[in-house]
Amino acid sequence: MNTHILLGTNLGDREGFLKLATELIEQRVGRVTRKSPIYETQSWGYQDNDYLNQVIVCETTLSPEETLKATSRIENELGRIRDRQGYQARTIDIDILLCGNEVVDSPTLTVPHPRMQERKFVLIPMCQLDGNLMHPTINKTMNELLQQCTDNCNVKPYKQQ
Ligand code: ADP
Ligand code: MG
Repeated sequence: MNTHILLGTNLGDREGFLKLATELIEQRVGRVTRKSPIYETQSWGYQDNDYLNQVIVCETTLSPEETLKATSRIENELGRIRDRQGYQARTIDIDILLCGNEVVDSPTLTVPHPRMQERKFVLIPMCQLDGNLMHPTINKTMNELLQQCTDNCNVKPYKQQ
């Protein structure tokens, strides 16, 4: 099954964390077959570092729940800092966007990711990978979702890659 995974990081060696997370996902979830370009997204609300975001595609035999277990462990291993307000500055956030056409709705896991269609930092890299890919429950393509998305975050290509 093809799993689309979003990586996000706004702390420390951001590029290094993307690379490390990808390597660990490759080892523990399955072969990483595609990677989107990296985008930089201005974080809003907080005076905070900008995020780097990237979508990777992983070919896995794990169930979505097993994939979440593995990716949560990787998040913990790469470390998170939580302040008193509960706001998290993250070294790495790993979200499962799609697991093929599977639909999961449990207390710990919702797939497709419930907010992916609201976020340009998800839809822009998704469109770079495959704009014609159909969202399994909304029944619109990634291109269509991006066109109708009203998120006004500034998402820009990161450096030359
Ligand atoms: P967010 O990514 O929304 O900013 P967190 O990374 O702290 O928040 O995620 C909190 C919890 O979200 C995880 O412990 C996980 O159980 C749950 N979760 C539900 N659906 C998903 C998904 N599709 N991908 C990743 N985590 C998910
Ligand atoms: Mg997350």
